[in-house]
This record gives sequence, structure tokens and C-alpha cells, in this order.
Amino acid sequence: MAADKTAFGKNQFGVNVELFTLTNENGIRVRIMNHGATIVSLEVPDRSGRLADVVLGHDTAAEYCAATPYFGCAVGRYANRIQSGRFMLDGQTYTLAQNNGPNALHGGVRGFDKVVWDAEILPGADAVRMTYISADGEEGFPGEVKTTLTYTLTGANELKIDCMAETDKATPYNITNHSYFNLAGHDAGEIGAQRMMIRAETLLPIDSTSIPLGPEMAVAGTPFDFRTPHALGERIDADHEQIRRGCGYDHNFCLTKTPPGELSLAARAEDPASGRVMEVYTTEPGVQLYTANFLDGQLAGKGGCRYVRRGGFCLETQHYPDSPNQPQFPNTILRPGTVFRSQTVYQFK
Ligand code: BGC
Repeated sequence: MAADKTAFGKNQFGVNVELFTLTNENGIRVRIMNHGATIVSLEVPDRSGRLADVVLGHDTAAEYCAATPYFGCAVGRYANRIQSGRFMLDGQTYTLAQNNGPNALHGGVRGFDKVVWDAEILPGADAVRMTYISADGEEGFPGEVKTTLTYTLTGANELKIDCMAETDKATPYNITNHSYFNLAGHDAGEIGAQRMMIRAETLLPIDSTSIPLGPEMAVAGTPFDFRTPHALGERIDADHEQIRRGCGYDHNFCLTKTPPGELSLAARAEDPASGRVMEVYTTEPGVQLYTANFLDGQLAGKGGCRYVRRGGFCLETQHYPDSPNQPQFPNTILRPGTVFRSQTVYQFK
């Protein structure tokens, strides 16, 4: 295990950004910057030991600040959407920025992805801890919230993300990591041939603005049935209303979990060509499969490459979108005196 820290330029406000590198004994290497607590690169071997960087991103902090697809970052204080940027909590109505059509997306105009986190390498050199204190009223949310994210690289080729959060007033809270994976390599083009399994019997169908309609929909008999592995490209343009609304996959799958909150397998992705496999385990009740439907080949990525439409997939482990307005969903209200904890593990095989 080895860890080190280097400078990674400045963000848009001139604040220095640091880049942390963790390397394990099998040569797996992850780099995380403290702007947005962002996974900048993740190098993993293929079946013959050849390393490739399997996450999309940029070469400099400045490029991350200028771009909008949320490459690799922590997303909060509320991941995904809140309808009309409005919710009621304990009798009071709160208003958020409508930064995605009529809705609030990914914590607002300046969410957790656009701030510099305090960061340190932990003793043992296998982990980096990042801390951010979100002020009371930030982006319209009530309460000062302290979030601690710990990124750990293990000898079993796992990248673990542990989250802990506390607040001094009741607030919606939902955090995820927004890495775009391409198991053939970040610049290898469309992910259509990569195979996906998701442990979910149901998903949340969405309206035309991507807000969950409410009731869960069974995946059986639909292009969303990933209970057994399917190539991502096989049904991504199927004649199905939910596929049209998402412009491909952009939906929350409701994970099969007994009991709730246990750490269990959520998804398994495989690139048959390289033999790289990634398993995702989480304590969260949902996972958003997003197939980079809104990339378009314009954005320059690492090494000057261009990221094409569907050139990556996200598996955003999370609570359900719009939960503050949908009381039947698992609770996302964090209250003073309670501690939010979650764990997500990406394991490479
Ligand atoms: C959302 C997409 C959005 C993407 C990038 C995903 O989590 O579900 O609709 O386009 O993030 O912002």
C-alpha cells in the first residue's frame, strides 16, 4: 500500500486543489482530488495484467470546474432530483435552485461536487479522508451538515467509499459518487458491448422531467431486466416509453435487500473484450444506472480525447430521487442527534 499527495492546480476561485494517489500491491491505482472529493482516475488490470484507466475525467482541476457532467465527484447534499426544487419539511416549505429544467439536480448550483474538501491521508496509507461542512442554508437546504467521506483501497482490489454525516437541523440528505466507468478504458468509446447485471426486481419509472412517478415498476419483460446479465447496448434504444424518457438508461433501480441497510451486491459489470469485471456493493437502497446519454463528443477529456454519447456508465448508489416529496420512499431526512452512514464498494476482478 502506498499513498501520496501532489498539487493539482487551482479551482475557479484560485483555491489550491490537491491530488491523492493510493496504490495497492496488485498495481491498482486510484487518484482522488479534494475539489468535489472526485475520483480522477482508476487504473485496473485486464485479464492479462494490462492497466487501463476506467473512469472518465480531465487532466486538470480547472477543466473539472468548467465542465458539467459530474465526472467522478461526490454528489450532494441531495443526489439526483427534487421536483420543482421544492419540498416541505416539518411544516415549512423550502425552495432550491431549479438547475435542471424545472427541477433541482445534484445539490444545486454549487453542490458538494464544486467545493474543496479538507483532506488527509490516514495512517496505514490505504485511505484518504475528506471532510466538508455545508453551511446552514447552503443551496437552500436547512442545517449545517458535516460530511466525512473515506476512500479506501484494499488488497482485495476494492475501492470503498464510506460516508458519515451529521446535521444540526433536519434536512434531506442523499449522497453518491458520480463516476462514469468504461471498463475497456475511459477513452474506448461506446459501452454498448459491456454487460450489466443489477440485483433489482423493480425500478422507478419517471415522468418527462425525470422525476419518479411514484409506484415501482417490475423489470420483468422490459428493457430494464438486468437480473441476468445483458449487454448495455442490447435494449438501450428499445421502443419503450421509459427508455425514451431517459434517452436510454437513466433510472433508479430498487435494490433487492434483506434486511434494509445491509451491504450487499447491487450490480456487476463486465467488459468481455478485456475481461475486466467490476462488482458494486452498497448499503444504499437504490442505484441509478445512467448511460451517459447526454455526452455528445464535444467535451475534451484526459489526454485530449473526446467523450462520445454513451461512452461510459454510472452506477450511482443512492436513496431514491425526489424522496423529500414522496413519503412512501425510504426516508432521506437526516435529523440532529442521528448519524447518517453508508458504504459503497467497487471491487475489480
Ligand atoms: C442523472 C442524469 C444527469 C446526469 C449528469 C445523473 O445522475 O440521473 O439525468 O444527466 O446525472 O448530470
